[in-house]
Amino acid sequence: MRKIIVFLIYTHLRDEILRELKSHLEDVFSLETEFYGLSIDINDAYNFTRNQYLASKIIKKMFPYKNNWKDKWIFFVDVDLYTPGLNFIFGEAYPRYGIAIVSLTRLKPEFYGSKPNERLFTERLLKETTHELGHLFYLHHCENPNCVMHFSNSILDTDRKSKYFCLNCNFLLKANMLII
Ligand SMILES: [Zn+2]
Ligand SMILES: [Zn+2]
Repeated sequence: MRKIIVFLIYTHLRDEILRELKSHLEDVFSLETEFYGLSIDINDAYNFTRNQYLASKIIKKMFPYKNNWKDKWIFFVDVDLYTPGLNFIFGEAYPRYGIAIVSLTRLKPEFYGSKPNERLFTERLLKETTHELGHLFYLHHCENPNCVMHFSNSILDTDRKSKYFCLNCNFLLKANMLII
């Protein structure tokens, strides 16, 4: 039975948040979701000039450990991520390996100078995790600004979109899940 496995790398989330995330992912993907803590050294992904971590370098560390390609793995880190060519990224996905990463850092209202707000943070986390999982099932970015597969240039886009797939993306998701 295929699963979604979320690995928390040197970060922690309250049980209430994890429960809500699990319930949302199981609702949207109809897949069992599990959480684990993971201690892997990510220091070599740090870029001193940018003060950010290279997302692909963290993801690639886990390639050798993934022997079940059907499972989908998501890493949560609380460091700012980048990929060459972009100022920052909320997350990144490697569909061929079934591994994605999501950064919690820019989902926190306090990153933007606002008061901490767990409700808002949780909504953003649900959206970005669903988005990266969509990529793991070979969905591309969607033009519909309400669709969870809409590309987020900034946190405003994340806040505008819903945590659900539009009808079209949902149709593609269900079709892809049958063959991937
Ligand atoms: Zn994307
Ligand atoms: Zn869509």
